[in-house]
Amino acid sequence: HADLALYKVKERGRNDYFFFDEEMRAEVMRQLQFEDRVRLAVHDGLFTVHYQPIVNSEGTLIGFEALLRWTDPVLGVVPPNAFIPVAERCGLIVPLGKWVLEQACLEAAGWQSSAGGGVKISVNVSPVQLTSPDFVTIVTETLANTGLRPELLDLELTESVLVEHGGRSAEAMQQLRALGVRLSIDDFGTGYSSLSYLRDLPVHRLKIDRSFVRDIVHSEAGRALIESMIEMGRTLKLQVLAEGVETAEQFEILRAAGCDEIQGFITSKAIPAAQAQGMVDHRRLLSSGQRAVAAKSAGE
Ligand code: C2E
Ligand code: MG
Ligand code: MG
Ligand code: MG
Repeated sequence: HADLALYKVKERGRNDYFFFDEEMRAEVMRQLQFEDRVRLAVHDGLFTVHYQPIVNSEGTLIGFEALLRWTDPVLGVVPPNAFIPVAERCGLIVPLGKWVLEQACLEAAGWQSSAGGGVKISVNVSPVQLTSPDFVTIVTETLANTGLRPELLDLELTESVLVEHGGRSAEAMQQLRALGVRLSIDDFGTGYSSLSYLRDLPVHRLKIDRSFVRDIVHSEAGRALIESMIEMGRTLKLQVLAEGVETAEQFEILRAAGCDEIQGFITSKAIPAAQAQGMVDHRRLLSSGQRAVAAKSAGE
């Protein structure tokens, strides 16, 4: 590295190039160290799975999304948006994703027996996982081992994986459909991809990205846009969920526009498994008003 830096200094005759290169080197070192920490955290089992409730337009609990959480003894709380891309780059997402799937299905199999059925679990699936050779086998085995009914499992895929919809992803999606699991498009609207996959692939639900929800109260154009996204989903006979719903005004607009499902801080952030179980246990005992209150306090 030092040689390379000196070479650049000579070549350009400028000292600042040397410093730039040193900085790059430091950055690469940081990346490698971070990668090591992720590897160690996977090895030491430092991850947990939290669950964010999903409600229907009446505010009734219908499912949860499993979200990875990592508190590292050295780094503190590390958000998924920081470690998922790293785990994808070094292949660790495959064992980590398998573990999340197993945890989530185990948890949901418990809800299945306590709630009289019907509480769904959504699990995020990275493109790297979906296209890895034994993903469908892993899903099949996890369902068999946990006893979870396939239709209660929803796998969230991003649009980026569908850009070219031939190939391994399409094949995996068809196989997953045959198993009876549900498929959602996560962060819908942010993938800049053609919409033709909605016609060609077995998608059950659109999760409209929270960037489209943020301004629906104050921007007429923003409201019109999300209304047409919901309308399109309904025309295609897909379930439509809005992500990142934080206020009652947003909830009202979405409900009026015919949005089927809502996820966001308005009900709760992602909570530990035990709290999620508590929410499932009480869901049939509460009125919808009490439900909203219970969901809110569980999230605090
Ligand atoms: P995502 O799948 O779109 O998950 C929703 C994200 O939005 C979560 O962030 C959630 O905490 C956040 N969120 C939910 N409601 C609200 C709200 O009302 N307002 C705001 N501002 N945010 C809200 P989180 O947990 O930080 O996860 C970020 C992303 O990391 C996820 O986005 C997903 O792409 C990825 N991720 C998380 N867990 C996993 C996993 O197990 N596997 C894979 N492959 N990716 C994961
Ligand atoms: Mg998701
Ligand atoms: Mg999302
Ligand atoms: Mg997102």
